[in-house]
Amino acid sequence: MTVELQHIRAARERIAGKVERTPIVLSQSLSDRAGHSVYLKLEHHQTTGAFKLRGASNAIAALSSEQKSRGVVAASTGNHGRALAHAAKLEGMRAVICMSKLVPENKLDAIRRLGAEVRIIGNSQDDAQQEVDRLVGEEGLVMLPPFDHPDIIAGQGTLGLEIMEQVTGATAVLVPLSGGGLASGVAAAVKSMSPNTKVIGISMARGAAMKASLDTGRPVQVEELPTLADSLGGGIGLDNQLTFAMCRDLLDDVVLLSEDQIAAGIRHAYEDEREIVEGAGAVGIGALLAGKIKAIGPVVLILSGRNIDMNLHRRIVCGDHSLTERAA
Ligand SMILES: *Cc1c(COP(=O)(O)O)cnc(C)c1O
Repeated sequence: MTVELQHIRAARERIAGKVERTPIVLSQSLSDRAGHSVYLKLEHHQTTGAFKLRGASNAIAALSSEQKSRGVVAASTGNHGRALAHAAKLEGMRAVICMSKLVPENKLDAIRRLGAEVRIIGNSQDDAQQEVDRLVGEEGLVMLPPFDHPDIIAGQGTLGLEIMEQVTGATAVLVPLSGGGLASGVAAAVKSMSPNTKVIGISMARGAAMKASLDTGRPVQVEELPTLADSLGGGIGLDNQLTFAMCRDLLDDVVLLSEDQIAAGIRHAYEDEREIVEGAGAVGIGALLAGKIKAIGPVVLILSGRNIDMNLHRRIVCGDHSLTERAA
């Protein structure tokens, strides 16, 4: 099974009116530096502050009324939980979000404010997933996972459709990469509409599960470590159904960044673009600034989220290097 253009087009119909069509802008400073046009897809301005609302809204809209009455449950590094809580609230549904202790406090608060139940379990996404499995078994909740689900991938893919409509002739699209729901959906849309456009995943070097899995040729587990790109943490699931194969078949490359390079991306977004983005949302800029992307024509970077703790953001833009030394 895979997700194709027709599923992504259907997702767009389903979520119309529930998610924003976000703007795309030319970055003059990055274009000057790179020697070709660099466009920023401002998806961090999406409702709930990240693209995750696309997948969550699509998956919830696809549920039967019987499933809606049971409620939904998911493990999340924060943004999927927030998106699911928002989409569930609009439907008057119960939502339970299970998270590890690594999830930042600001993300927990936002989810609680949307009326969802929050459970903090263990030190990794895998620990949180065990609680999800228990709730599915014991309370009959419907699991909507953060990436490895056809309706989630199709929803995230609507971002790829928008990019293809907003920019012509893109030679590469840079996609923040964790479990690969975003990368799979965007690549499915982009590759079917423009087969020569490269789609490149960007992850943090600290605990890049998809990259390790692609290198090994099957899903593998990596140790989950604290990173400035906290939304990119977590494994891909040893029984991964969709996103491993889609990333293997559709991505042209995966680039890894150090914590310093991620911090530089956050800083550039703020100083030069006047945009507040979280670590995961800044990896495209970080990769470009680090000289890791070789392109000759227009490149599109997805700024995927903005839900960063503002005290942390202040320290990063002020150049507090203790943040990245600890994690060097
Ligand atoms: C979830 C998330 C990602 C990664 O998405 P995957 O589908 O797990 O690869 C990137 N950026 C932000 C802001 C996110 O919340």
